[in-house]
Amino acid sequence: MLLCCLKCTSVLDKARVDDVEVDHCPACGGLWLDHGEIERLSRKMASEVDRLRRLLQGKAGASGPPAVPSEVQGSCPACQSQSVKEVALGNIHIDFCTRCKGLFLDRGEIDAAISTVKDTKMTVAQIVAAAASAADAAA
Ligand SMILES: [Zn+2]
Ligand SMILES: [Zn+2]
Repeated sequence: MLLCCLKCTSVLDKARVDDVEVDHCPACGGLWLDHGEIERLSRKMASEVDRLRRLLQGKAGASGPPAVPSEVQGSCPACQSQSVKEVALGNIHIDFCTRCKGLFLDRGEIDAAISTVKDTKMTVAQIVAAAASAADAAA
């Protein structure tokens, strides 16, 4: 099944980081990760993540648009639902599907996402759930 980019609707390419198969957008440099993949990436060697980072930058090219968070254009690439929400992850905002727990990182967000997962020792799903209950408590 072909997955389409959440942001620019280009067809995503597959790439391997060690034993993790990820989907990345050749047009905008975005990265789609299925449930659990960011946690697996966070345990990979820095050199493996480096390779992925270069892939994301290289494809989008120096002439590509700057890495700015942009609006979600479509439904979830993995489960086709409209459940994708913008959520805070550390100091970045990511697009997270509350149904299949996949997530989309804009170009340049991979390092911040991995370090947040490493620092908190939580999964993204846990971080999102914690943030949501904190917001409920504050409301
Ligand atoms: Zn894209
Ligand atoms: Zn989904």
